[in-house]
Amino acid sequence: MESIHLVSSPDSPEFNHLTRALTHSSVIGLDAEWKPIRTHQSAFPTVSLLQIACQLPGADNSSVESPVFLVDLASIPLQSIYQLIRNAFVSPNILKLGFRFKQDLVYLSSTFCAHGCEPGFDRVEPFLDITSIYNNLQPKQPGRRLSKQTKSLATICQEVLGISLSKELQCSDWSQRPLTEDQMQYAAVDAYCLIHILEVFKAKSVTEGNSVESAMGLHLSQLDLGLKQIFDTQQNSNKMCGIKFGEALEMVQAIPPDFCKTVPISDEEVTELPPDQANRMDYMLSQIVRKYGDKILLSESDRKPKISRKKAKKSSGRVANTRSPTEGGEEWQGPPPWDATSGGDGCPKFLCDVMVEGLAKHLRCVGIDAAVPYSKKPESRDLIEQACKEKRVLLTRDAKLLRHDYLLKNQIYRVKSLLKNDQLVEVIETFQLEISEDQLMSRCTKCNGKFIQKPLTTEEAVEAAKGFQVIPNCLFNKNLEFWQCMDCKQLYWEGTQYRNAVQKFVDVCKLNE
Ligand SMILES: [Zn+2]
Repeated sequence: MESIHLVSSPDSPEFNHLTRALTHSSVIGLDAEWKPIRTHQSAFPTVSLLQIACQLPGADNSSVESPVFLVDLASIPLQSIYQLIRNAFVSPNILKLGFRFKQDLVYLSSTFCAHGCEPGFDRVEPFLDITSIYNNLQPKQPGRRLSKQTKSLATICQEVLGISLSKELQCSDWSQRPLTEDQMQYAAVDAYCLIHILEVFKAKSVTEGNSVESAMGLHLSQLDLGLKQIFDTQQNSNKMCGIKFGEALEMVQAIPPDFCKTVPISDEEVTELPPDQANRMDYMLSQIVRKYGDKILLSESDRKPKISRKKAKKSSGRVANTRSPTEGGEEWQGPPPWDATSGGDGCPKFLCDVMVEGLAKHLRCVGIDAAVPYSKKPESRDLIEQACKEKRVLLTRDAKLLRHDYLLKNQIYRVKSLLKNDQLVEVIETFQLEISEDQLMSRCTKCNGKFIQKPLTTEEAVEAAKGFQVIPNCLFNKNLEFWQCMDCKQLYWEGTQYRNAVQKFVDVCKLNE
């Protein structure tokens, strides 16, 4: 890759570089990263990073520069870049590339609106989705319709560029600063590869001798870059690798320079250009835009989180804690080990004795960290040791265990209710746990693990589930999101069961009242 620039302040050389690149590029690749939250939450996630891969003529005009800008939305005042980005999104002189970018745009728009940049973003035009480029790259077979299934960006990159995108960092925390080298690299590649896929598409349009060739009066039938073949020989690498991109770029640059010549689309559009706008699409690009160009428009409803208004009003829906902890459980004095006064981090953690294992699953369903004993028949001291070591409150129905209270001060609680739902409510009330709707189903019920931060597509889920879990065929083509447990790798999806479970816990925890 040529260069990655982190833009985190308006008074920086990187910012100036970005401004210049956006006024000189005729094509940009877009991607965004955010720290995911559950999809049924009442607000959109905050985008913390916007990646913009540019492509502009180098200083000597015969080469091409492809800088990638990582706009650090968590640091830079959003007002300072709002107009710049908004203009680029709607500029007729810049083709925008993205992969399922509509969702990114919704989140991006909401992030900017939250910082006073009204009305956010509602249009990206001209736009080209990498999926439609990919579909157009497929050999056309007469009598067979184009497959409508959406492949992941990783699959498209593998097939078109012969490179593997690492998914490892998808789960990393994008709101944390500073970003690691690897994170920056990863983020940049996601935007950068879009430009390369377009380059392959352009090269292919050339070799196939479409109307562009005759229009240009060029004879390029002998030109066969065979990009796919060249890349194919190197596809064994499982690392995302900047060197490969460097090579890819060189090959793409082997396209005859005639094609890079600037050909004004029409006189009218030229006069519209401000004097500093040096980004004109070359003939080839403008043909592609004319033929395949699309746009993203956000409607009012797109820009609102998809939950009912009733729920929206109750977005902070928490369990009503009318009872004080002492009323809730006579034996519970507190404070628990996670309390700030005990030096904790505020995150409740429980250890459920074998007799209340069902309660552990219920707690996980509402997003609470609930472990079970290491062994199936633990001795009292095993339980105490584990609770102590992991700073958990031991939940049990065994009154005898309370005798060990002196060993485990404020870390044992005897659950009085018999039924799981009642036990859950009892624990929530006793420990004054704050349960909000976005926490529901945010944890693996099987093992208490957390989910990876980005949802998987059906295709990625099938790949991830290989060998231990079957993804039913009926889920295909439904555009579902899958969540994978980081620990046991179990996959979850938002099917009927999931929705019923959410509803159940909304009721049990009285989140609707
Ligand atoms: Zn798990």
